[in-house]
Amino acid sequence: MSEAAAPATISTECVIVGAGPVGLFAVFELGLLGMKCEIVDSLAHPGGQCRELYPDKPIYDIPALPVCGAQELVDRLLEQIKPFHAGFHLAQEVTGLMRRESGRFEIQTSAGTTFDAGSVIIAAGLGSFQPRHLMVPHAERYEGTQIHYRVRRAEDFHGKDVLIAGGGDSALDWTLELCGKARSVTLVHRRAEFRAQPVSVTRMKELAAAGQLRQLEGTIQSLLQRDDRLIGVVVQSRDKATTEVACEMVLACFGLHPKLGPVADWGLALEKKALHVDTERFQTSEPGIFAIGDINAYPGKKKLILSGFHEAALAAFGVQHYVYPAKRQFLQYTTTSPIMRKRLGVAPPD
Ligand SMILES: Cc1cc2nc3c(=O)[nH]c(=O)nc-3n(C[C@H](O)[C@H](O)[C@H](O)COP(=O)(O)OP(=O)(O)OC[C@H]3O[C@@H](n4cnc5c(N)ncnc54)[C@H](O)[C@@H]3O)c2cc1C
Repeated sequence: MSEAAAPATISTECVIVGAGPVGLFAVFELGLLGMKCEIVDSLAHPGGQCRELYPDKPIYDIPALPVCGAQELVDRLLEQIKPFHAGFHLAQEVTGLMRRESGRFEIQTSAGTTFDAGSVIIAAGLGSFQPRHLMVPHAERYEGTQIHYRVRRAEDFHGKDVLIAGGGDSALDWTLELCGKARSVTLVHRRAEFRAQPVSVTRMKELAAAGQLRQLEGTIQSLLQRDDRLIGVVVQSRDKATTEVACEMVLACFGLHPKLGPVADWGLALEKKALHVDTERFQTSEPGIFAIGDINAYPGKKKLILSGFHEAALAAFGVQHYVYPAKRQFLQYTTTSPIMRKRLGVAPPD
């Protein structure tokens, strides 16, 4: 039997922890200075709070954009950083960060990716977004086997009696996706109104009316177990009536909430759950590790996107100085600098 090859370590000048708006803009600022980076996020998509918490809301305080949707801002940032070809590593949490004897950093993720980086920018915002768990006794016993908070492989649910809990887009999308593929699908939501796309809700109701899935209003009150297996759940309605639903797989889509998580374990000076930084380079208590955006703290800090953009620009100069201490630093304008225009992939100035 041949041994599986260990995944190769990715070597880079900088790893950015967090692909929220501020982490994304750091890619741009590093790119302008000629540095390549890798960016990691525990979410499956870039955008941080903008994408996860308020994608459709308008933002009015981004300079020169009188109004900009939160998802639109993320899309614009992704467009802006295209010339710099950052490596994206999504759906994986940065779990380990340590300094190697060489002075460089070893960064590890929950997906087994390892980086060897000259510097680190932590743009972890409010923390790593984690799924809200099903809060009933013994749920943890089945987490990862019969109780799931995200779908890693849809086929695992095929041919099974599946109960989906939640009223947002994820719950509705998976209900529609698994209907006809799972042996049975029951959707449980605590109220009659859904927060999902109206078109998904209409389709779900049509399928329920046609008897192809079951819709129940209520909350999961307890689990039904036999021989160490989950065999169903008890759903309680508002008027306290209970219904037993037989199922072998539960998919709880209760949304995500941010948790400071591993960032707190890296030995960096913390101030009220935020990383203490200087305001010259936005460096943490550990040389070579920078922190920008909502995750940092300094006198006068404002948790605003535009403050994070400014921090990203200064942190990029800090990174450059840390990785290439002998390099002379000088300010160049994108309007007039041939080298910056070259990096941006646009025509040289006239
Ligand atoms: C409803 C609402 C409205 C808002 N409106 C405005 C506004 O109008 N104007 C404004 O300026 N600001 C506004 N904000 C605040 C703004 O969204 C934040 O300041 C901004 O998102 C901070 O960006 P960030 O990149 O620092 O962090 P975040 O957007 O929080 O992104 C951080 C990312 O890091 C990831 N992460 C964290 N830890 C890890 C880890 N260990 N491994 C991998 N990934 C990790 C997270 O999953 C997340 O995606 C609003 C916020 C909310 C909630």
